[in-house]
Amino acid sequence: MSADPDVNATSPPASGGLVMGKDGIHALVEVLSGRGFTVVGPTVRDGAIVLAELESADELPYGWGVELEAGRYRLRERADGAAFANAAGPQSWKQFLHPARVRQWRADRVDRETVFTSEESSPPRYAFLGVRPCDARAIAIQDRVLTGGIHRDPGYEGRRAGALLIAVECTEPGGTCFCVSMGTGPAAPPDCDLVITEVVDEDGHRFWIRGGSREGEQILAELPGRPADPVTRTAARAGVAAAAARMGRTMPEAGLRELMAGTLDAPRWDDVAGRCLTCGNCTMVCPTCFCTTTEDVTDLTGDHAERWRLWDSCFDLDFSHLQGGPVRESPRSRYRQWMTHKLGTWYDQFGSSGCVGCGRCIVWCPVGIDITEEAAALHDWTRAGAPGDAP
Ligand code: SF4
Ligand code: SF4
Repeated sequence: MSADPDVNATSPPASGGLVMGKDGIHALVEVLSGRGFTVVGPTVRDGAIVLAELESADELPYGWGVELEAGRYRLRERADGAAFANAAGPQSWKQFLHPARVRQWRADRVDRETVFTSEESSPPRYAFLGVRPCDARAIAIQDRVLTGGIHRDPGYEGRRAGALLIAVECTEPGGTCFCVSMGTGPAAPPDCDLVITEVVDEDGHRFWIRGGSREGEQILAELPGRPADPVTRTAARAGVAAAAARMGRTMPEAGLRELMAGTLDAPRWDDVAGRCLTCGNCTMVCPTCFCTTTEDVTDLTGDHAERWRLWDSCFDLDFSHLQGGPVRESPRSRYRQWMTHKLGTWYDQFGSSGCVGCGRCIVWCPVGIDITEEAAALHDWTRAGAPGDAP
């Protein structure tokens, strides 16, 4: 799933893949590093499973799971020693592809002249190990927004072009996950470079890995393992199917785009506005939110200035500030803008939902506001007969 067209130039050879033990995952990180990739994957740090550069597969969160609820995230130990049986953490891959802070240029006063230097960087070639299916879809959404179109971001394109995606199918959804409702998981999309499904059962702890691109197949050929056997493949598929049946949350079975368009005056927006702190956490953790602002800073001498691009949030009052003040002054209007964009008008702009059902906005909301609960309340309001509906 590289954005570089050369990498995916031809269809990958069909293969049933390999079954590997932990040594195979170890070898995978070594092969990737040997090929010059900066390997990024999940690891335990500061009481959470975060995404960080990995030097060895030993840093993966073997034996750690998570408990997720609205406004609550806790690590928990797992007796089975699984590495990938944990749902989305506080970060997503956008922090690498679309970083929170990027310097755009510097300016220095030299001999009474101002000299501008644009920021040039050679991004590392990332290998993302452990991309959840929902997050792979989130990357595809950011690709649509930030590459190729009229608002293309060359920095994103450069980072994304060389990135290798190694998806891990979900076998352990969190209490706040709802990818099934959004059609984004728990099975991996077909266009990742490599796909792994972890199996832990009476036959042992093993990983079924298969290629999805030519480069993925080349990497697969360097790994230790045995041809995938039917027992492991069946167990892997059963694990993913069981995960689909155990989603912690669901979205109402309604056309979400139409639901958003038809409930703009619902009293529920006042209700949620009474709870929302407009802190913007939900936009920071969301893997598809892409809005940015710019900030100019100078040193105390006034001889040096820099322009930085920073993540921005539609919950910020300044976000919609035009001449005369912000367009969306009230918390009600800002929450409604965020949710109706995610689930509704995103379709009009980009042809898909802006939500992949990862549940991060639910977990990291300090007051536990739950986008599925809000959508359900709006749906109930329409079913009860919104004012103005025909009897
Ligand atoms: S919904 Fe929650 S996370 Fe989002 S702005 Fe409101 S309080 Fe913050
Ligand atoms: S809106 Fe919430 S659940 Fe949907 S993709 Fe963003 S963070 Fe995940």
